[in-house]
Amino acid sequence: MRIANLNNRLVLLSGDTALDVAEASAGRFGPDILSAYDNWDDFAAWGKTADFSAAKPVNLADLGAPIPFPRQIFAIGLNYRDHADEASLPYPENPMVFTKFASSLAGPHSTIKADTSAIDFEAEMVVVIGKKADRVKAADGWKHVAGVTIGQDLTERDVQWRPPAPQFSMGKSLRGYGPFGPAVVSLDEIADPENLAVQGVLTGPGADGEMLIQNGNTKDLIFSVPQLIERLSEHVTLFPGDIIFTGTPAGVGMGREPKLFMKPGNVLTTRLGDIAEIVTTFV
Ligand code: ZN
Repeated sequence: MRIANLNNRLVLLSGDTALDVAEASAGRFGPDILSAYDNWDDFAAWGKTADFSAAKPVNLADLGAPIPFPRQIFAIGLNYRDHADEASLPYPENPMVFTKFASSLAGPHSTIKADTSAIDFEAEMVVVIGKKADRVKAADGWKHVAGVTIGQDLTERDVQWRPPAPQFSMGKSLRGYGPFGPAVVSLDEIADPENLAVQGVLTGPGADGEMLIQNGNTKDLIFSVPQLIERLSEHVTLFPGDIIFTGTPAGVGMGREPKLFMKPGNVLTTRLGDIAEIVTTFV
């Protein structure tokens, strides 16, 4: 299943068409987005048999954030060794956790005002919780996941590191700084979520043509998804529909010489394997 948000209604995507879940399920699920995740097993079973004959053509640019208001958003810093190296920071012994505020979330084709001087990109796999997780062991971690997609943990570096005691969350939550999607791809459609390319391609100011600026793989995560679920749910309960930005591989703008920050005219395309792609335009 590819689960998305069209005009704040729960839809399933198939190719370039969208099926309204509330209509197709005669009100059993939807239109509320979180209803898919709050009833994950039932919804996943229904989705396998959904009749797409009533699906309508959709422009992917019209989709909103796949989950516009999750109960919680977790983001993990320094979760790839090559990114910790470029940030000149030690490898973490515990996951480094911060949040992005829900108001920063955006859909797969979004526009961001580049009116500050240190806007950086971080391509990341985004994990969506499908089943409440309370002190879950890593061995059972994937059982609590509905699906994954691609996201950008966009960051205003000056705000992120502002003294006296830097807190990451504000610098990573400016308007539109959490685009993801276009859909949550359920795990049954993915051969191996622990082996997916995480890539960013940039055009416009600072880029040499179509420049591959990040090229990592989820197999290189320091804390794997199941380990993250164990370590997070040791302290907090994860709820259906919660999302986890799992960290970014090397290549971010602050680690480059000269630094590469987003300016009006940049277009950033971010991909997870061949299952998800978003496009972020800076104006
Ligand atoms: Zn990040």
